[in-house]
Amino acid sequence: MAKVPVGTNLDGWLDAYADRTGQLSVSEVRALFAVVSRPEVVSLAGGMPYVKALPQELLVKSFNMMMRDRGNLAMQYSGGQGDETLRDQIRELMALEGIRSSVEDITLTTGSQHGLELVAGLFLNAGDVVLAEGPSYVGALGIFKHYQAEISHIHTDDDGISPEALSTRIASLRRAGKKIKFLYLVPNFANPSGVTLSKARRAKVLEICRQNHILVLEDNPYGLLYFDKPTPNALRSLDEDGVIYFGSFSKILVPGFRVGYVLAPPAIRQKLVLAQESAILCPSAFSQMMISEYLANSDWQAQISTFRSVYKERRDAALAAMKQHLPKLSTTKPGGGFYLWVKLPEGIDSKAMLPVAVKNLVAYTPGTAFYGDGTGQDFLRICYSYPTPEDIRVGISRLASVINLQTELLDTFATTTNRGK
Ligand code: PMP
Repeated sequence: MAKVPVGTNLDGWLDAYADRTGQLSVSEVRALFAVVSRPEVVSLAGGMPYVKALPQELLVKSFNMMMRDRGNLAMQYSGGQGDETLRDQIRELMALEGIRSSVEDITLTTGSQHGLELVAGLFLNAGDVVLAEGPSYVGALGIFKHYQAEISHIHTDDDGISPEALSTRIASLRRAGKKIKFLYLVPNFANPSGVTLSKARRAKVLEICRQNHILVLEDNPYGLLYFDKPTPNALRSLDEDGVIYFGSFSKILVPGFRVGYVLAPPAIRQKLVLAQESAILCPSAFSQMMISEYLANSDWQAQISTFRSVYKERRDAALAAMKQHLPKLSTTKPGGGFYLWVKLPEGIDSKAMLPVAVKNLVAYTPGTAFYGDGTGQDFLRICYSYPTPEDIRVGISRLASVINLQTELLDTFATTTNRGK
């Protein structure tokens, strides 16, 4: 193939794209996948579930039963709201987190990512504000930015988003004439911080949003993956009108089926189904029926317990390795889920350090991916769900060499600069 000179514009349609596509940028997480899939690199980057912990025979059994009993329906187009049997089973799943729901109010989507995209499309105009934790899930930020929303991060600590900071920010945005549409939250074992919103704060946050007529988007793919104790009840269980709840089978089963669900108040649900039909006609009946069969004919709660123990062992390995190799760095201590959020020593930029780390055969996700405003350089995310405990230990010791070297270089630079003064 002929070599194309660097900087050549290969896209003859640049003048034709919609304005909002200016917001489309390569996700820092996805951009990493190509590099870190090399076998010699320990990837603590992409948030991939450990699907090998799910015995494949279970799915083969589900497939056979589904094809025998409902094969023709599974291979056909279906309704825009999704399979009713699965929606009914999802009610049971959500009841584990205190949610009472009806089959009519649940809509199945192509992963919860698609649910977020549909809801964003229903509500966001360019210039609207979305409030979010700081840091917040990169995939959701990408959707909000695509709809040209402004993202306003609210101070978040070990108990989740701060209600006081939320109130203050809402007031100042309103004074500036801004229109706030959502508060987007991952309340359990958040991506990327691993933090869980405390029970006391849940009620306060809801109260603030209710008073200010702001919809809460509760995104909860990790809630059932707790290590020691269950999470507080879902925000949706406390407010049926002001919360749209997003769930997913990606982390408690497998992401390959691409099945998520949205529980929305009736009026919003009607619009959501119309938006779904207009975008994709219907979500995959095949995937939904596989999952439905799996839930009906296997001990899915025991399988979730297996996932919990796999991830707990990996979380322990990650925290122990951090303590051994990077004892001075502070990290969150997640009670479930996939992620550790690490604060770097002053002066180290996680994005700039990444190529050095990959050269040293370890990858992570830079903190900047999780802020819509370009901050977060002094943090990085470690995902411990996919590598084995041994690989986690090796990866973190490699990461420590990279961070320690950077710290030494910064110290040497500071000393020589001071001497020069
Ligand atoms: N929300 C959060 C917080 C996530 O971490 C992810 C996946 N990493 C998603 C939504 C999307 O999940 P899916 O589309 O696979 O259901």
